[in-house]
Formats: sequence, structure tokens, C-alpha cells
Amino acid sequence: MNIIVLNSGSNGNAVYVESPHTGAAVLLDCGISRRQIELRLKVHGRHLQSVRGIFVTHEHGDHVRGVPVTTKLYRIPTYLTEATFRGMWRNKPHKGHRFMGNTEAVTIEDIEVRAYPKSHDAADPVFFVVTIDGRRFLYATDLGMHDATVAGLLGEVDAALVESNYDEHMLETGSYPQYLKDRIRSEHGHLSNHQAMSLIREHANGRLRMLILGHLSENNNTPEIVQREADALFDGIRGSTPRVVVASRYEVGDVLTLM
Ligand SMILES: [Zn+2]
Ligand SMILES: [Zn+2]
Repeated sequence: MNIIVLNSGSNGNAVYVESPHTGAAVLLDCGISRRQIELRLKVHGRHLQSVRGIFVTHEHGDHVRGVPVTTKLYRIPTYLTEATFRGMWRNKPHKGHRFMGNTEAVTIEDIEVRAYPKSHDAADPVFFVVTIDGRRFLYATDLGMHDATVAGLLGEVDAALVESNYDEHMLETGSYPQYLKDRIRSEHGHLSNHQAMSLIREHANGRLRMLILGHLSENNNTPEIVQREADALFDGIRGSTPRVVVASRYEVGDVLTLM
């Protein structure tokens, strides 16, 4: 499968996942504008016409902001839970949405997308595992805490995008008001670098060949810190070392191919 992270962060999330056999694709979240999605796909010779479904994890703006215009212009069906749909207010899909349960799988051509419930401050938040031709990609951001399901799945997937939101020291000593610091650190907030790394260290195994660290905070983290911590993670680890990519908050990533 081919994975392109179009953007990752509290300013917008969208990940394009494509079948190499059919060229069909799905979009995981749609939190940047339709125009930006078009431009970023074009960098890699892709376009929105290939997207067969938009899968939404939860109703926060950074995951759904682009949904209304994208679905209006391209008539792509949006898959989401009923509670997420109700919580989307003005970001609702233009038309053609389909409800999926928070433990349900949807298959479109040769792409299967399975939802799992997660802990986060939204109505019915989920994360996804995409399976194409036996290759499995875990997409897990906005996790309030060490998640036992994510932990189990880390040992059963070939690629994963895991949230590595904030550096604990930067958050503690930074300028955010106390209530916001508490919210980010809570069980319904986000994973710190430390939490993400220990989740991966404890549960990933030799099957994991690609690790994408994403949803980095602008004010409480840096790509350099995340890269350094990830490098240390795989320094002398058992078995093979996965390719590590830190997803950008500002620009489209490379085409990541999972053979
Ligand atoms: Zn988010
Ligand atoms: Zn969120």
C-alpha cells in the first residue's frame, strides 16, 4: 500500500492511503482544506477522484474542517459514527454520509478500514486500521492515554502512525494556562513523546516496518526532539528496525510504500 501524510497536527490532519493494485484510495480524516488536499496530492501525481471514501475519526475541527467542501465538489462518501456526525455542526458532509459503528469494518474494493473506539474528549472517537492485500496500517492519533487496543495492534501491523503530541518538559514550562496543560495531559487529551515511545517500545515487534510519529504540538514539541527519541528507541532493538518518519504540520510527506 501507499501512504501519504498530507498534514498532521492540531492545525489539520489528513492521510491518503492507496491500493497499489487498483489505484483506489481512502482519506483518513479531512482536516485541511479541499484546495490544500488537491495541491498536496498533485505533488505526487495523485488526485481526489481516486478517493472512494473519507473516514472520520472524530468531530474536532483539525480532523473534519475540509469535509463540507470536499464532499460537495467530489461527492465522496463520508464514513463516520452517528455521534460524530451529530457533533460536526457546520463541518457536516455535504451529502452521501454513511454511518459505521465504532467497531465496524467497511470494505471498498480491496481496501478494508476497521474502526476501534478510543479515549479522547469527543462524542464517539475512533482510530482505524487499514488493510490492503494483507498489509496493515494503524492510524492512531488523539489518544488520551496508553490504549490497550492500540498496544495490542502495534504488534500486528506493518505500519503505524502514532501520535507523539508533546514534550512533557516543554508543556510544563511553557506558556499554556494550567487548565489547558491539564486537558492535554488528561486521559481524554493527547499522548506525550514519552508515552508514545514507551507504547512502541513495549508493544511493537519485528513486523512493524514503518513508524510515522505525528500530531506534534506546535508550541510544546519539535520534530528534532521526536526524531531523537525515536532514534534512541530503535538503537539496538531486537530484530529489524522500522523506517521512522516524523510527519509534518506544514507540508506533504513522501509517498511511503509498504511492499
Ligand atoms: Zn487532533
Ligand atoms: Zn481531537
